[in-house]
Amino acid sequence: MTYLITQACCNDASCVSVCPVNCIHPTPDEPAFMSAEMLYIDPDTCIECAACVDECPVDAIKLDTDLAESDSRYLTINASYFEQNPIDPDDFPMEPKSRRGDFSGLRVAIVGSGPAASYAAAEVLRHRGAEVDMYERLLTPYGLIRSGVAPDHQGTKAITALYRDTMSKPSFHLHLGIEIGRDLSHLELLEHHSAVIYAVGASGDQRLRIDGEDLPGSHAATEFVAWYNGHPDYADAEFDLSGERAVIVGNGNVALDVARILVSDPDALDRTDIADHALSTLRNSNICEVVILGRRGPAQAAYTNSEFHALTQLPGIDVVVDPREVTLDEHTRALIDGGDASAAVRLKAELAAELGQRAVADDRKRIVFRYLVSPTEIVGDARATGVHVVRNSLVLDDAGVARAVAGEDGEFIEAGLVLRSIGYRGTGIADVPFDPKRGVIPNANGRVIDPGSGDVVGGVYTTGWIKRGPSGGIGTNKKCARDTVDLLLDDFGNGRLGPVTARGDLETLIAERQPKAVDFAGWNRIDTAERQAGGERGRPRVKFVSLESMAEAARAIDSASAR
Ligand code: NAP
Repeated sequence: MTYLITQACCNDASCVSVCPVNCIHPTPDEPAFMSAEMLYIDPDTCIECAACVDECPVDAIKLDTDLAESDSRYLTINASYFEQNPIDPDDFPMEPKSRRGDFSGLRVAIVGSGPAASYAAAEVLRHRGAEVDMYERLLTPYGLIRSGVAPDHQGTKAITALYRDTMSKPSFHLHLGIEIGRDLSHLELLEHHSAVIYAVGASGDQRLRIDGEDLPGSHAATEFVAWYNGHPDYADAEFDLSGERAVIVGNGNVALDVARILVSDPDALDRTDIADHALSTLRNSNICEVVILGRRGPAQAAYTNSEFHALTQLPGIDVVVDPREVTLDEHTRALIDGGDASAAVRLKAELAAELGQRAVADDRKRIVFRYLVSPTEIVGDARATGVHVVRNSLVLDDAGVARAVAGEDGEFIEAGLVLRSIGYRGTGIADVPFDPKRGVIPNANGRVIDPGSGDVVGGVYTTGWIKRGPSGGIGTNKKCARDTVDLLLDDFGNGRLGPVTARGDLETLIAERQPKAVDFAGWNRIDTAERQAGGERGRPRVKFVSLESMAEAARAIDSASAR
């Protein structure tokens, strides 16, 4: 018997440090960690002690004998990683840097409240005497866990229990409803804290820059995701689902999430925390086919194998691949045949080839994967009616990366909805350095730098997607945060961070600038009200989607206890 890691893996590596035999890889100190699709357990080394099972925040670790039929593929997914990356017995998991001493006087402002921010807070608060003030412009915390992770992935959302533990500490102060650059300035934050960590993620989206992109019916997938997840900025967005086909450009995990939600049984979604407005629109949807366009081949697809495989197990949905499109380019074929392709790349090619052989029913909803095609125009007069695509071939660039190059052949794909799912993009904050080309805050391993001089900007740090760009799983942010906080602690220890004002001065300033800010107790009241409303309908929660209703829920018990 052995334990295995399955689809829900969050990559935060909580399991790694509790494994007594070092059988979970890649560990955060291995180079492969930051780009790993998931973590894997070596079946030959696992001693079935179950320490990792207890530690996993998202319930992703299963005993092989308990695997559902649909998960049996994880036997090979876990084992094949170690065929290529055998364990070096001298390698041991990264131990947290142990620091002694008193960190009293260290008050860190963290801007943002998603995974990157929450892991950074946890890292700071491991140190005696340190305090964290977290600032979030919305009235709810957890960033993309609440407004990005798909509602049918409730297991992944369970990771918020970890963040909640951090937020419950007495040395942690939550300030929801405060926007930096509007309510407080960057300079004010610096004045009242020893250091500021920007962990604001990447809330913008990338553009295709083709004709027709702004037609009604053509949207960013990031908006669609925010809409079905009840993000207050997108609660009034409208998506026309009256056509029978939707096209999604890009084949990362966001594209897969969106495709799945578009064809899922609304009754199944009714058991999730999907926003009510989205559920009622989806109940009236005519969409029965979603076409996902990848500009490169199946081996270069941006989705992870675990998400792709999970899609193929959806009840009532066919996943369709044209066998003619899974023929690998020469270069990839040579890598696979020569044993030089990673296990993840080999599996991508295998899974797509297998699907190419699968029979498809005419009367079922379907998700169609197209490879080696790029959109050249979104077509339509008053609104989008389809997409012109061109067929690509792959050419190696100077760095040996296979790039898509457009050819002559093309076709028109009719569609009533076009979603571009080609990545998130970071946006700048007033007075904080920003690299508009990459959409990140320029930094050296997390210390913010002035883009002009290259000098470190004292007391200013960054972590997560706004530090390194929008890639990686939730748990990738844990190592990223640790790297940043390690530098911050070094700087504090070396006297590079200034003294802070009295806490009372900070509290007075916050109360003056944003009297409606909500604290952790207020968030708990919102959370409880949402869960109670969910409980009545057999759902995990029913989300508030307007700021007014959230603010009212945050105040509710206060006024009740005042009566
Ligand atoms: P992503 O993984 O970076 O995928 C972006 C996709 O857009 C790629 O297929 C890319 O193709 C394509 N693309 C980019 N520019 C394009 C263009 N001009 N024309 C056509 N295609 C273009 O981004 P994402 O899906 O937004 O995901 C962001 C991160 O969140 C990823 O790390 C993802 O794994 C993670 N995430 C994870 C989950 C999960 O675990 N369930 C769910 C959602 C998101 P190329 O590869 O050719 O560049």
